[in-house]
Amino acid sequence: MYIKTIDFSKYSSIKVGQPTEVMMLEKRDVIPSDRYLIGGANNLLVSPTPPPLMMLSKDFAYIKEEENMLEIGAAIPTGRIVSYAKKNNIAGFEFCSKLPGTLGGMLAMNAGVKEYEIFNILHSIEIEGKWIAKENIEYGYRFAKLSGIATAARFKKKEGFSRELLDSLLGLRSNQPHDPSAGSAFKNPENDYAGRMIEEVGLKGFQKGDMQWSNVHANFLVNLGEGTFEDAKYLIDLAKEKIFKKFNILLQEEIKIL
Ligand SMILES: Cc1cc2nc3c(=O)[nH]c(=O)nc-3n(C[C@H](O)[C@H](O)[C@H](O)COP(=O)(O)OP(=O)(O)OC[C@H]3O[C@@H](n4cnc5c(N)ncnc54)[C@H](O)[C@@H]3O)c2cc1C
Repeated sequence: MYIKTIDFSKYSSIKVGQPTEVMMLEKRDVIPSDRYLIGGANNLLVSPTPPPLMMLSKDFAYIKEEENMLEIGAAIPTGRIVSYAKKNNIAGFEFCSKLPGTLGGMLAMNAGVKEYEIFNILHSIEIEGKWIAKENIEYGYRFAKLSGIATAARFKKKEGFSRELLDSLLGLRSNQPHDPSAGSAFKNPENDYAGRMIEEVGLKGFQKGDMQWSNVHANFLVNLGEGTFEDAKYLIDLAKEKIFKKFNILLQEEIKIL
């Protein structure tokens, strides 16, 4: 293991945070239990006082094929998975395009687009050296109960990368804001949409400092330039409070606040 300083105002997708020391884990390391693991920081909001952090080094960034299985290291960015699948005519990973992050982050969040979710195509996950079949993992909408750090995952190989599916998914996502964000701020409650509720309580487009509930899609908290953690947290708490008052529903954050 070694220490690397990561500037979260540049590294995180929402461009909030400061230079912070992160422990980089290598293949042979024993994984510390007192540190929070991050992936590509596309679903994170880093405070001025985050917990001690760690990250998988490039030792965990590989793709290999064995018989009918594809094994992917958890540090691999989603973009690389899609280009590998395309090049080798493998089906099932089309939805990972434009879903920013690493495989590890996708597994932990059961990330997905519409009906396509990573757990749909998953076979098993390597958690701290032990392979665990999907059937033995509890998972649901934007959630998976991993018993530790995912270092790799296996997928049954299926032939037939679909260019059409890729194109239609890419088209789908054009209603998302282009300003820096961490994706959806809240999970959708059952039978409703967090974005609709944020709109209903009048917060679509509402701004504090340089942070804003996006005009394009209200469930995206966007950074218009110099947005801070405090501004973001203020807007999150404000939306939760207003929505609770109006709908009696307590929204759950999808983004992880560190
Ligand atoms: C513009 C934009 C659009 C987005 N659209 C979508 C969308 O449509 N659907 C969707 O599902 N998400 C979406 N997201 C969110 C994001 O893409 C996913 O949550 C992604 O999986 C995050 O991956 P990451 O590597 O950046 O994880 P991080 O943000 O770094 O971490 C997220 C969580 O995963 C955990 N984690 C990371 N690596 C591992 C590991 N190896 N083992 C165990 N836990 C781990 C972290 O501890 C943390 O709890 C969007 C984000 C952005 C910025």
